[in-house]
Amino acid sequence: MKAKANRNRFDNLHIDNKYILYMEDVSVSFDGFKAINNLNLYIDKGELRCIIGPNGAGKSTMMDIITGKTRPDTGDVWLGQRYNLLEMSEAEIACAGVGRKFQTPTVFESLSVYDNLSLAAAGSKSVFGALFGKGRKLTGEQNDLLDSVLQTIGLTATRSRDAGVLSHGQKQWLEIGMLLMQKPKLLLIDEPVTGMTHGEIERTAELLTSLAGEQAIAVIEHDMEFVRKIARKVTVLHQGSILAEGSLSEVQNNQQVIDVYLGGGQKAA
Ligand code: ADP
Ligand code: MG
Repeated sequence: MKAKANRNRFDNLHIDNKYILYMEDVSVSFDGFKAINNLNLYIDKGELRCIIGPNGAGKSTMMDIITGKTRPDTGDVWLGQRYNLLEMSEAEIACAGVGRKFQTPTVFESLSVYDNLSLAAAGSKSVFGALFGKGRKLTGEQNDLLDSVLQTIGLTATRSRDAGVLSHGQKQWLEIGMLLMQKPKLLLIDEPVTGMTHGEIERTAELLTSLAGEQAIAVIEHDMEFVRKIARKVTVLHQGSILAEGSLSEVQNNQQVIDVYLGGGQKAA
């Protein structure tokens, strides 16, 4: 998996073509505290990866590094073989195909579901137009994509309604839909099911499972019932490094994982 020895730092060919995300020897300190510590993480194209770990493990910081919000002190971070993410701005990283969904939904409540998706397709230039009721016309291709995204997120019947009247779960799906309008190669999703009903959690599991393959998805989630529904390969983060990686049952039976995370009366999160 690792091919570090003697490689040229600027030679991307050491990165296996199967990876969409390649993070190697990544560390970052905040005031002397190592939030990420020699982290190596490799995600395959189209993979659905669950990332779990106790509070403070560095999960969100890891996503901040991938999206360019936080710059690591050391290490390499690549999107595929082409994009050295450490040399790109947050906006460039988003354009290159990294979509990030934060925990709380951020949709435009007074705009329709359709307009929210349409804005996401057209990019920031049209925000002004859309807010003043003259959204830019989408291309035929964008319209087709919008229709298929509506179907995927299960909001076709609510396309004309204001996003503000949607349930919490529907708003989360709409925001995922807005990311899909950018055709991302890698979706980073931080704790999607917090505050959702059981039915919504079930639907979100189906949604993320159906999206994998087309794009890679990394989901941070505390809800183990949800993780059980979608888990393929699971990564356990602890003190800024990977503690264990494998199937859910493999990591759940790993003694170190039990000691620091799942056992000891800690919240199973
Ligand atoms: P997780 O998402 O796994 O709960 P975080 O990535 O949010 O963990 O945080 C990891 C550690 O880094 C925590 O101890 C947190 O307090 C610290 N941390 C995160 N971001 C910053 C920051 N911008 N400045 C200082 N400390 C930070
Ligand atoms: Mg976090």
